[in-house]
Amino acid sequence: MKAILITRNESGQHARLSEMDQSALPGPEAGGEVLVDVEYSTINYKDGLALTGQAPVVRSFPMVPGIDFAGTVRESSSVQWRPGDAVILNGWGVGEAHWGGLAQCARVRADWLIRRPAGMDARTTMALGTAGYTAMLCVMALQRHGLTPDSGPVLVTGSSGGVGSVAISLLSRLGFRVVASTGRTGEAAYLTTLGAVEVIDRAEMSKPGKALGKERWAGVVDSVGSTTLANACATTRYGGAVTAFGLAGGMDLPATVAPFILRGVTLYGIDSVMAPRPVREAAWQRLAAEADAQALAAITTQAGLADAPSLGADILQGRVRGRVVIDVNQ
Ligand code: NDP
Repeated sequence: MKAILITRNESGQHARLSEMDQSALPGPEAGGEVLVDVEYSTINYKDGLALTGQAPVVRSFPMVPGIDFAGTVRESSSVQWRPGDAVILNGWGVGEAHWGGLAQCARVRADWLIRRPAGMDARTTMALGTAGYTAMLCVMALQRHGLTPDSGPVLVTGSSGGVGSVAISLLSRLGFRVVASTGRTGEAAYLTTLGAVEVIDRAEMSKPGKALGKERWAGVVDSVGSTTLANACATTRYGGAVTAFGLAGGMDLPATVAPFILRGVTLYGIDSVMAPRPVREAAWQRLAAEADAQALAAITTQAGLADAPSLGADILQGRVRGRVVIDVNQ
């Protein structure tokens, strides 16, 4: 089988396309109960960190990266899955601590897989990938909080990226007024096509700001962290909600408690990696029903397995717009 393999030696970490025997995959005793023929994978920000070694995402070497995949079960030692079942996988440390999806085959735990939603093909699930599923987790959190389109505008930061692009499309289809914050203002036309009603320069959100600013957003979907997240909280309206899942601008949070104790703002942490199965299934069912196929086509590009290492570097440098699907057989 072909796979991207990350190895490490004295000169550092290296990711390259390799040929290997399938017997190298982890056996059932090592969490490999189900053998899946992978059709598509994708490049997320975390895959970029793993592929480049820019952050210590990979926890053992050699490692096959790829936190997402879609494919078909070939063999299963678990009663949960049968040969021919169409499955997807997102997270669970796959591509970090367990061999992942940037390969023609993967062996994973039965509990980590979910059934591909009816009506969605494998490529579409990976056009969404962890990014799309995380965007839906944010939408669900904002709605659980009680937000409706009448509550006011929703700010999406890192909006040209994977999670941001899908979040704009999902929220605008639900009727929300979406304001997109981006460092790539040249992408304004792309962002408005997805459904943003206003595009702002991310410099407006990233400079150190006041403890409380003008009340602007009913809700926030934040990819960036750091001062951007602090400013987003400080400019959220009374009783509003902020969803935080990303660190594209930094892991720190130089904020004050003012928005929380004076405006009743709620900060929701969103994690896709260890989210329980029922939560994942609910998010994917909603994506199957609500993701706009036309918008998805507009945000998605496709590449082959050999392109993954350079795309990993590109995504960290903010050079990837929207989503990249990897056809592992291309
Ligand atoms: P992308 O790289 O596709 O998008 C990130 C976007 O953030 C970029 O496109 C860019 O948008 C913006 N950005 C990049 N660098 C900076 C910077 N230095 N300062 C401000 N903005 C910046 O990544 P994803 O959409 O896949 O993921 C976004 C973030 O969310 C990542 O940090 C990722 O690790 C995290 N994540 C977390 C998950 C979880 O479960 N908690 C799941 C999925 C992702 P623009 O050019 O428009 O400004």
